[in-house]
Amino acid sequence: GNKNINAKLVLLGDVGAGKSSLVLRFVKGQFIEFQESTIGAAFFSQTLAVNDATVKFEIWDTAGQERYHSLAPMYYRGAAAAIIVYDITNHASFERAKKWVQELQAQGNPSMVMALAGNKADLLDARKVTAEEAQAYAQEHGLFFMETSAKTASNVNDIFYEIAKRLPRV
Ligand code: GDP
Ligand code: MG
Repeated sequence: GNKNINAKLVLLGDVGAGKSSLVLRFVKGQFIEFQESTIGAAFFSQTLAVNDATVKFEIWDTAGQERYHSLAPMYYRGAAAAIIVYDITNHASFERAKKWVQELQAQGNPSMVMALAGNKADLLDARKVTAEEAQAYAQEHGLFFMETSAKTASNVNDIFYEIAKRLPRV
């Protein structure tokens, strides 16, 4: 790769969906069974090489609690990418994810690359949201969709990689 791209990326979604766990898995290759709730937001950075570029993600991991909602625009404004996370075992978290998509499509950067992550894909027995339902929603709203597991690492690097590939090359 010969291009260096800096990309601000924000994670949004219900509290408990696994935003911090996805970031921890991507940035440090770790998983914590009792991950503490995020307060406000946390910042991380990680670099990923794709075919033609090196992408440095500047990652804002937001809290997800309603009481921090008014802070969210600070994190998604100017973001090149967003991962909207829900928990496949929690239908309410999927509904919350749709609200975030709506808000980003109304207020966010129009060229933002958006990914929908159905996390906790390792908990198949407790599944409440089908992959078909989420895929159909994602397609209809112009996002790309993946089921992930921060626990097993399934599709975690892949979702960041897919985002990196889709970022505009300046
Ligand atoms: P956040 O509030 O969205 O940042 O969610 P956290 O990352 O704090 O995760 C909430 C809880 O779900 C923690 O106890 C995590 O260990 C757990 N968790 C997160 N991702 C996964 C996953 O992929 N699979 C399983 N089984 N548990 C997960
Ligand atoms: Mg968190």
